[in-house]
Parts: sequence; C-alpha cells; structure tokens
Amino acid sequence: MRQLSTAVAIVGSGPAGLLLGQLLHRAGVENVILERRPIARVLARIRAGVLETGTVRLLEEAGVADRLHREGLVHTGIEIAVEGERRRIDLARLTGGRHVTVYGQTEVTKDLVQARKSAGLPLLDEVEDVRLLDLESDRPRVRFRRLGEEHELACRLVAGCDGFRGVSRASIPADRLRTFERVYPSAGSASWCEPAPWPRS
Ligand SMILES: Cc1cc2nc3c(=O)[nH]c(=O)nc-3n(C[C@H](O)[C@H](O)[C@H](O)COP(=O)(O)OP(=O)(O)OC[C@H]3O[C@@H](n4cnc5c(N)ncnc54)[C@H](O)[C@@H]3O)c2cc1C
Repeated sequence: MRQLSTAVAIVGSGPAGLLLGQLLHRAGVENVILERRPIARVLARIRAGVLETGTVRLLEEAGVADRLHREGLVHTGIEIAVEGERRRIDLARLTGGRHVTVYGQTEVTKDLVQARKSAGLPLLDEVEDVRLLDLESDRPRVRFRRLGEEHELACRLVAGCDGFRGVSRASIPADRLRTFERVYPSAGSASWCEPAPWPRS
C-alpha cells in the first residue's frame, strides 16, 4: 500500500473543496484533494451561474478573482414584468450596495484548478472506494484506490467536501452529526408546492 501524508485531506473537488484547498494553501496549511471523477469532467460540469457579494469577496481573498472581475457581469438589480409593466428591483439600493455577479460555477472551478496547478498542489482525481478511518482520533486516515493501487493518506483533519450524498457525511456517526442551516423566509415561499397565482388580464 502506498503511504501518503498531509495536514488536511479534502474529499471532493467541487467549488467547496477547491476553495478550501486554496484558502488553506494561502494560510500555509498543506492539503491534498481527492476527487472520484476525472478532472476533465469536473471542469466541464455546468451548474450555478450567479455569485453573491460575499462569495466574490472570498474569491478575492483566495487570490482567484482576476478573471472573474474581467469577465463577470455585475447586476445591481433585476426587472420583473407584470402585465406588460416593467418594475425594477434595485438590489444594490435595497441591500446597502450589494450586487450579484454572473460568472459560471464552471469558470470558478477552472480558476481554482488553475491556481492549484500553478502552485503545484496535489489534486488526485479518479480515486475509487474512498474510506475514512479513525475520524475521531488525532491521526485520521483516508484509504482509496487509484490507478489500481491502494493508497493511505494520513492527516490531521479530513474535510468532507463531497456533497450531501458523499462518503464523508455517511461516515459521521448519526449521534455526532450536526446540521447548520439558514432558512430565508423568501426562499420558503419560493419552494412552495401549490401553484402560484398568476395575474390574469
Ligand atoms: C445541474 C445543477 C444545476 C445547479 N444550478 C445552480 C444554480 O443555478 N444556482 C446555485 O446557486 N446552485 C446551483 N446548483 C448547486 C451548486 O452547483 C452546488 O451548490 C455546488 O456545486 C456545491 O458545491 P460543493 O463543492 O459543495 O459540491 P459539488 O459541486 O457537488 O462537489 C462535490 C465533489 O465531490 C466529488 N465526490 C463525491 N463523492 C466523492 C468520493 N467518494 N470521493 C471523492 N470525491 C467525491 C464529486 O465528484 C464532486 O466533484 C446546481 C447543481 C446542479 C447539479
């Protein structure tokens, strides 16, 4: 078995894992990212398209916002048309100057992978059968198979960034799992299942 070691083992190279890896690197903390998909597939995934102000600030802090500022489209408001009449919702005025930036998650991922490559930081893709061991000890381990060879990555901490259905969440004992959620009142009405009333002429 191939033995590896690092400070933080990050499972998953979505935006969460990649950004965490970049922030840790800038703070001088060694980390290794493990990803089950080929990296070309991660880079081709089309998903979210809008970044909120806080996310843009975080990407600036991580040193990966240059292209985002060049190519992203800043929206300070939106318009809603009701019965032919256009009404502007001035997001910036209503939120004390905040805005959203249209810049695809695919592009954020590309920038983060590029930053990782430029810094020569390890991102091991196509890992299989990831298992998290001794999570409650001060020396947890992550076992996985890559290119047919068994690996064991010893670390101080495992960061599970592999999504809701990933192996990380499933590895946390039910009685130790804590969930943090913020529920927005407006989002509550957006997820309402009844048909919304539609203005009629
Ligand atoms: C089709 C689609 C459209 C979306 N559109 C929007 C949108 O318009 N607006 C919006 O705000 N959000 C949208 N989202 C949600 C947004 O994409 C997610 O919130 C975001 O991707 C979460 O990032 P993440 O890094 O936490 O997880 P993910 O992006 O899911 O990344 C998790 C990574 O972990 C890897 N992984 C999983 N299991 C393992 C394992 N065992 N070992 C190693 N690696 C593993 C996965 O391959 C993946 O690369 C959309 C999502 C989808 C699927």
